[in-house]
Amino acid sequence: MNSIYDYSLDELKGLLKPSFRAKQVYNWLYKKYVSNYDEMKNLPKELIDDLKSNYEINILEIVKKEKSSDGSIKYLFRLNDNHTIEAVLLLMKKKIVNEDGSIEKGEKYTVCISTQVGCKVGCSFCLTAKGGFVRNLTVGEIINQIVQIKRDNDIAENKSLNIVFMGMGEPLDNYDNFVKSVKIFSELDGLAISRRRQTVSTSGISTKIEKLGNEDLGIQLAISLHAVDDDLRTELIPMNKAYNIKSIIDAVKKFPVDTRKKVMFEYLVIKDKNDDIASAKKLLQLLDGIKAKVNLIYFNPYPGTSYQRPQRDDMIKFQEYLISKGLLCTIRESKGLDISAACGQLKEKESNGSS
Ligand code: SAH
Ligand code: SF4
Repeated sequence: MNSIYDYSLDELKGLLKPSFRAKQVYNWLYKKYVSNYDEMKNLPKELIDDLKSNYEINILEIVKKEKSSDGSIKYLFRLNDNHTIEAVLLLMKKKIVNEDGSIEKGEKYTVCISTQVGCKVGCSFCLTAKGGFVRNLTVGEIINQIVQIKRDNDIAENKSLNIVFMGMGEPLDNYDNFVKSVKIFSELDGLAISRRRQTVSTSGISTKIEKLGNEDLGIQLAISLHAVDDDLRTELIPMNKAYNIKSIIDAVKKFPVDTRKKVMFEYLVIKDKNDDIASAKKLLQLLDGIKAKVNLIYFNPYPGTSYQRPQRDDMIKFQEYLISKGLLCTIRESKGLDISAACGQLKEKESNGSS
């Protein structure tokens, strides 16, 4: 059975009679986060019965939550076929309350969501890759991660929230479901998360980056570059053989970027592999002519890997070099380093029974 979360508003209008019911259903799902059709108080009984027998509403179950000291929460969800995926609620800024109780600044949320169970790309540094590829997530399973997290944290419907497609899986390998999810997320009668607030992270399937650019969805792009020469990049991301660095840079140059925004280049820093200033110099050259910002990520070791976490000093030198040349560069704060930082790691702990 399909899920009610699989459908765009237009599709639901075509499925439900009379069509204005679709908006009401959307309201219950995406503004009130109800998880049971019986709670949809303004719908007639026949429609509720019809919905119950035709559209699954419970498709993800929270099986585990880990809260980090900085307020981030990592979720492990079970799908109806018992596979598990992760999503993380990141608290980017905390709420500041004045002495009189008024709110000086609201909290800022970003949610990192998954698009596949496992991943085909097989990066050598990534835990998600170790279990191989299982299947694509459905549109509903992608959408429902956000709904569940908003519900679980009582995040008001009008509270702005950013989405990063940076969890488990390669979003562009689940292209159609990913694109449809972006559209459903931005539906004004639904979650109303504007496309500018949605970022897709890709390991660099150049042809799909071009395809995505042609759709002009208005979303932000993040490229997992991780290396500046093809030999190392192929070691890290085997698919680089087919889609090498140049092909990625060419695709990015064609990508329509919001005038106020930049393309983000993620650079996973591994000790003695890519943490030297020579790499920083090459990176600078590669990004010449692109409105780019760089996000340096500490490699997060896990049992069995031979890669090592870089020294903090080397990270800072790398960052300072790029900044001194005028390139925007941040170091990804290991939000939730005390939980299992990189995606794939909570799931791993669960299946080892080690937590
Ligand atoms: N498949 C897409 C989407 C995100 S992958 C992509 O590769 O861009 C999940 C994220 O976790 C990526 O940002 C990746 O760089 C990061 N990651 C994977 N393994 C990691 C590790 N061991 N330490 C730190 N970050 C890791
Ligand atoms: Fe897949 Fe991204 Fe992990 Fe690479 S880093 S294996 S593309 S999830």
